[in-house]
Amino acid sequence: MTRTSLSSDELRDLRRRVRGAVVCPRDTLYDDARVVWNEMIDVRPAVVVRAAGVGDVAPTIAFAREYGFELAVRGGGHNVAGNGTVEGGVVLDMGGLHAVSVDPEAQTVRVEGGATLAHVDAATEEHGLVVPLGVVTGTGVAGLTLGGGVGWLTRAHGLTADNLVSVEVVTADGDLVTASESEHPELLWALRGGGGNFGVVTAFTFRAYPLGPQVFAGNFVYGRERWRDAWRGLREWTRDLPDEMTTITTTMTPPPSMQLGCEPILIVGFAWASPDHAAGEAQAGRLRTLAPPDSEAVGPTRWVDWQSALDPLIAKRVRAYWRNASFDQLDDDVIDVLIARGEEQTWVGTAFDVHHMGGAFGRIPEDAAPFPGRHSQFWINIYGFWKDPADDDARVTFVRSLAADMERFAGSGHYVNFQGREKAGHRVLDPRQVFGAHKFARLQAVKREFDPENVFHVNHNIPPG
Ligand code: FAD
Repeated sequence: MTRTSLSSDELRDLRRRVRGAVVCPRDTLYDDARVVWNEMIDVRPAVVVRAAGVGDVAPTIAFAREYGFELAVRGGGHNVAGNGTVEGGVVLDMGGLHAVSVDPEAQTVRVEGGATLAHVDAATEEHGLVVPLGVVTGTGVAGLTLGGGVGWLTRAHGLTADNLVSVEVVTADGDLVTASESEHPELLWALRGGGGNFGVVTAFTFRAYPLGPQVFAGNFVYGRERWRDAWRGLREWTRDLPDEMTTITTTMTPPPSMQLGCEPILIVGFAWASPDHAAGEAQAGRLRTLAPPDSEAVGPTRWVDWQSALDPLIAKRVRAYWRNASFDQLDDDVIDVLIARGEEQTWVGTAFDVHHMGGAFGRIPEDAAPFPGRHSQFWINIYGFWKDPADDDARVTFVRSLAADMERFAGSGHYVNFQGREKAGHRVLDPRQVFGAHKFARLQAVKREFDPENVFHVNHNIPPG
């Protein structure tokens, strides 16, 4: 039977075992320690262990197992489904472990398991290197990578997970193992999209790429009357774009801070992953000709500034529900849906992004990682970020109904990191459906080797079988 609270003796025992802070409900720090980014996940763990070093990881796992508590592992706490915490269980918060070291010669970056994207970008900038990450800096590297990781460099260099060189993992038995192409290669494979199912990651080593500090990037902005031209222009433009160009097209009602009015707008955001800014400008110019924007902000900008440009849009903590689907064509039927639903969305607090995929992401063989759907040309990420609980139903309904509209165009596979919590419990998606039967069976084999008792199940769970 699963436990939900600690006795004083157990608490003393846990405090003896670890160096980091052990925070329980009667501590003043408890509310700060228990919260995660998604305010809808209002969960009260029995205890939060704030790891002070790698040495705290194995004892915390052992404690949870010995005393029969569910265990949740937290990196940046940004998981939309709330998998960084657990009601009545033990939370191992890795957030204090965020050191980043760069090897400029080897062009690799070692990142501790609790770092955020901001920690990585800040460390790589002085070396003129970048790691492909996501687009909001507070996101945890761990959850992002273990689920996949899409951002402004996806077409140039693939997912964050595709750039893993090695991963240091503490397993359910407390062993520290390294997964790389030469040691435990099947574990490395599983970590490229299979989530936190296989152990606690204490450090990732990524390939990095020369770029910056300045990058050519920007936004083209279109008012409602220009949306059809913009989507059709985008369809033409994306047919033969070089890999260096990654675009994310957002439809939203802008918050007042953006100073873009209060009507729904469409923004084509892009980043050009090459120091040849003139070539990037030439590519951007093609879209400008195909679909002249109403306004634009385009030019060289610091990579760290571009990476944090979306931060002000999304508060440190909000209520959130997200869905994701992939599709292959921006044909007129898809465009009709995107325009109709965009026009309806006259409030601040939901939005949808269409990511242009392909490029390096699409050339990686499907079997090289659990991550599903390399063939997809586009992804839609439909997301809500609002503050008032009274808006929950309307915001969730909008996200769900647009996801349902896109269902008929959707390809196979889901991106687990863009999925909100559907109902009580942790498994929000059927992993067979997410990964397909063959990859699911392969993931299960790795799970049986490294976590046969399913200690790590507060995630998009792969049951050992
Ligand atoms: P957490 O809630 O801490 O953890 C998420 C999952 O990872 C949990 O299952 C947890 O157990 C596991 N985990 C965490 N740390 C470890 C560890 N050290 N070892 C083992 N398992 C661990 N995704 C993108 O791909 N691109 C984006 O641009 C992007 N932008 C986002 C912006 C915002 C504002 C938000 C909220 C999310 C965004 N995401 C994006 C989605 C994001 O990738 C996922 O929410 C991801 O799970 C967040 O990781 P985390 O470490 O912050 O989450």
